[in-house]
Amino acid sequence: MNQGLIITIDGPSGVGKGTVAKSVAKELALAYLDTGAMYRAVALQVKRNPINIDNDTELLSLLNNTEIGIVNNQDNVLVITLNNEDITDKIRSPEISRISSDVATKRLVRKKLVELQREIGLNGNIVVEGRDMGTYVFPEATFKFYLDATLEERALRRRKQLMENNINIDLDNMTKEIELRDKQDKGRLESPLHPAPNAVIIDTTNLNADEVTNRIITEVKVSK
Ligand code: C5P
Repeated sequence: MNQGLIITIDGPSGVGKGTVAKSVAKELALAYLDTGAMYRAVALQVKRNPINIDNDTELLSLLNNTEIGIVNNQDNVLVITLNNEDITDKIRSPEISRISSDVATKRLVRKKLVELQREIGLNGNIVVEGRDMGTYVFPEATFKFYLDATLEERALRRRKQLMENNINIDLDNMTKEIELRDKQDKGRLESPLHPAPNAVIIDTTNLNADEVTNRIITEVKVSK
């Protein structure tokens, strides 16, 4: 693989970016970065230290006491730490999803996390996944992909994922949650979610994760 290769995978909630990004990274022997997990780590910090996130002084002070770590362990599982505590299993609840979408609208939060993301991506050979990877964080990325799917399909996928972690939520509520997060992620002022102009857009509604992974890998191999 080329030194400096960066593959960005963006898209809305529940589209399955995580599963696909992980498989693409594995197949191509690249590192993998889940940037949503970083927003979730900040969300957990806010949940534990309730502040008014609209107040920049309070938010900055909290962020200055927030150290986020993200590393692949020996089993190639991404471990997320918050001030040296392993929080990997504590950031996938619907509540943290909601708070993360709120904190992600804040300029100070994005500034801190984008710096960290660019630092991690500096040496390349990485698949980065999120909402603004191709548009803002890595505008010069080698390959950019934007995954999409209908709201109904994404609600089904996210619900299945939560149920695998023993979290039950009914489909109507799941659909409403995702719709709300779409609205917030696409409508915010700071790095709103949209495909980069040169991204390959893949409608995954009728594709499984392996099919999406193969599409991406084929695209990367053909263009190299
Ligand atoms: O991808 P995931 O659902 O884990 O992301 C959690 C939240 O973090 C999203 O709802 C989105 O608001 C935010 N996010 C973001 N920019 C990214 C990654 C995630 O705003 N690059």
